Amino acid sequence: MSLKNDTIRLPRWMKVPMPKGENYSKVRNLIHDHQLNTICTSGNCPNKGECWNAGTATFMILGEKCTRNCRFCYVEATKPDPIDWNEPERLAQTIATLKLKHAVITSVARDDLHDGGARFWAITIKSIKKVNPTVTMEVLIPDFDGKTELLDYVIKARPEVISHNIETVERISPKIRSKATYQRSLQVLKHIASQGIVAKSGIMLGVGETRDEVLQALHDLRSVGVSVVTIGQYLPPGELHTRLMEYVKPEDFAFYKQAGLEMGFAYVESGPLVRSSYHAEQHIHALKRG
Ligand code: SF4
Repeated sequence: MSLKNDTIRLPRWMKVPMPKGENYSKVRNLIHDHQLNTICTSGNCPNKGECWNAGTATFMILGEKCTRNCRFCYVEATKPDPIDWNEPERLAQTIATLKLKHAVITSVARDDLHDGGARFWAITIKSIKKVNPTVTMEVLIPDFDGKTELLDYVIKARPEVISHNIETVERISPKIRSKATYQRSLQVLKHIASQGIVAKSGIMLGVGETRDEVLQALHDLRSVGVSVVTIGQYLPPGELHTRLMEYVKPEDFAFYKQAGLEMGFAYVESGPLVRSSYHAEQHIHALKRG
């Protein structure tokens, strides 16, 4: 059954308090003062209060305008700004000021650049590690058109975790992703895992997928060597975006978590408010313990 976004009431488990607090303000001011972008704000993430109060955020490099136009995404799709070559240093200093032990970075897609931004990614990772030698890093990257020579720039900079989201099940992928494909994303993840780096991916629920399709997607991710997966509720950014079909119940998220663990994932973060970077620090600690 097709439901309109505005006909589905927000269930109680999706309600979060307004973000505020001393630490929240400190993180917000620091990000503003250092002219940085975060997917927490650009993606209108419901966990901003929790994460920023815990002193963590997911930084977004290469600007805040994306060259792709995925139908589920809140980030603005338009002509991107020129590269800001001082951004890696500012980001490295911000991570030092926040005393982050684990930093999570993502970027917009930059199909306008001949290398898709891969070299800038490598410079950013190295700059962060130079200023913060003990920091661990998770980088959530675009598919670089599936070109392994571009992926290798990021891999050779040796972040601890490289994440690339498949976003949804295979059947729905062409309807909501503008350029990336399900199979190409699996190949990207396979290449990352083959290079000895923790491969992570994420999927959103509530866009019309079936339970069997979600289990198949988890199986596909596991079969290419992905060891960490996040599963969360899709929230439509606006009326023109992919339609919300349902709010998936907490018990269904619990079911997928158990199924993922039984498939052999080292870590499954599954819940209505989960986003790719949610509790990322805990993933790396769990992996270290494992
Ligand atoms: S879940 Fe990720 S994107 Fe959302 S507020 Fe936390 S760090 Fe930011």
